[in-house]
Amino acid sequence: MSSSIKREQFNIGHLCTRQQCEAGRGSKVAMRWLSAAMEQTDLTFTDLEQQSNRVANLLVEVGAKAGDIVFTFLPKMPEQFFILLGILKIQAVAGPLFANFGEEGLLDRLGDSQAKILFTRRSFLKKIERIRDRLPALRTIILIDSEADLADDLLSYRCLAERASTEYQVEPTAAETPSLLHYTSGSTGKPKGVLHVHRSALTQRMTAEKILQLGSNDVFWCTADQGWVTGTSYGIIGPWSLGVTQIHFGGGYDATSWFSILESQAVTVWYTAPTALRMLMREDPATLQRTDLSNLKHIFSVGEPLNPEVIQWSRRVLGKEIYDTWFQTETGAIMISNRPGVVVKPGSMGIPVVGVEPAILREDGSAADEMEQGALCLKAGWPSMFVTYLNHDDSYQQKFKDGFYYTGDTAYRDKDGYYWFMGRSDDVINTAGHLVSPFEVESAALEIEEVAESGAIGVPDELLFEKVVLFVALHKTYTASLDLELKIRLYIAHRVSSVATPQQIFFIDSIPKNKSGKIMRRILKARYLGLDAGDTSTLEA
Ligand code: AMP
Repeated sequence: MSSSIKREQFNIGHLCTRQQCEAGRGSKVAMRWLSAAMEQTDLTFTDLEQQSNRVANLLVEVGAKAGDIVFTFLPKMPEQFFILLGILKIQAVAGPLFANFGEEGLLDRLGDSQAKILFTRRSFLKKIERIRDRLPALRTIILIDSEADLADDLLSYRCLAERASTEYQVEPTAAETPSLLHYTSGSTGKPKGVLHVHRSALTQRMTAEKILQLGSNDVFWCTADQGWVTGTSYGIIGPWSLGVTQIHFGGGYDATSWFSILESQAVTVWYTAPTALRMLMREDPATLQRTDLSNLKHIFSVGEPLNPEVIQWSRRVLGKEIYDTWFQTETGAIMISNRPGVVVKPGSMGIPVVGVEPAILREDGSAADEMEQGALCLKAGWPSMFVTYLNHDDSYQQKFKDGFYYTGDTAYRDKDGYYWFMGRSDDVINTAGHLVSPFEVESAALEIEEVAESGAIGVPDELLFEKVVLFVALHKTYTASLDLELKIRLYIAHRVSSVATPQQIFFIDSIPKNKSGKIMRRILKARYLGLDAGDTSTLEA
């Protein structure tokens, strides 16, 4: 398998489809689609090429141009893949949205990016219609499941696709051409659009080959949703640019279905997340041990710290090693990881990928000693590095200092060069591998009539790594109740996203703030954990 990409053609859509057909893999299964009810549909690389060509052509028909921002707001379904590849083929920017986003979550992303076209389904349309008047740039919505056009700007995917040719010649695409846009949450302000370019395929393909160790006979299953970076970097680009067969499953987490997929589909490499693995740990070991996993060579994990207990459980119950990998939306591809052939130290995220130069830096920018905790940074310039935060280049610039990108994580390096994750240096909450902004949760809570002040924090959770906890102070005329708690929960799920829903809500008299009015989340956290709040001298009187 060649690991070079033709210099003149960096187009990810082309690399994942046409190039595979030209390499003689046209009739090879690219995607085995399993519906939630486990019905199976096989799509070859030729199918993928033709379906994504149809999308490229239909986009041209509706007036889309290179550089336009086109979003998908879809559940897991085969069309998601055709659409994302088709968008990339015309050199427009593809923004996949997680299907559980609420109205505010959608508005923030579609509004900030000035998205022009959105692919969605009829049942999701209500959410979009409620915010449509605040999205002046959004000129066309394409409905995946409508038999006919519903209005001039509400078009039927089926009608458009039926008319569209299966032939499309992808223009030579430069490495620097923008490709994917994934929004990520920070601890302040609205989510920011992390913009990638087609060059990222170099690192995604290299890491799929060298870290995930995918080869032409593998059957790969990456459980991540396409709304998150893992779902595009390793649910699309890495494996398909190598011509590897992928399993994609339309259902959610379910131990029985998951184990049946691993067994019946003879999955050889599986990429999943610690929360899912911890959920599997709760299952009866006898059931798991009855599953034939003899085809499964490697399990990889990403998104949150992988606890040593999970590694020990997998060795004991599944007879498999789990390799932790670390990366972020901004890095586009795995940067630090464990891998087959390198000794795993349970609890460590492993060693750097070839060509990646991490550094642990102190606050003054000097290099930390071995075992000394500091800011986890990366020497800027790896091929899959993001190129900006869309419309927020100032925030992008602030992430770099003296040639290093500051990841926002803290870590240390041991004497053998292994990296150990310690936490975030900001207040961002990582729940089941999803980053949740406390600011977004607090802002949504403030929209509720009864709520005067709110403060959101992440606290340790055995299953989810962290869970969202919300502190609320009510306006004087209201009193706390279970009904109100439920109302707040539902409202946040509906406005922001189901993953942002607080698992616990505490009603308190006032939210601690410093003299400039900033919420002191550190104090809320200490209060929750029953710890000393430390220095409170800057607290509001
Ligand atoms: P995202 O940008 O949403 O993919 O989230 C990236 C963040 O998730 C990282 O900055 C880490 O805080 C966390 N993360 C990802 N992978 C790992 C890992 N293997 N171990 C610990 N934290 C991780």
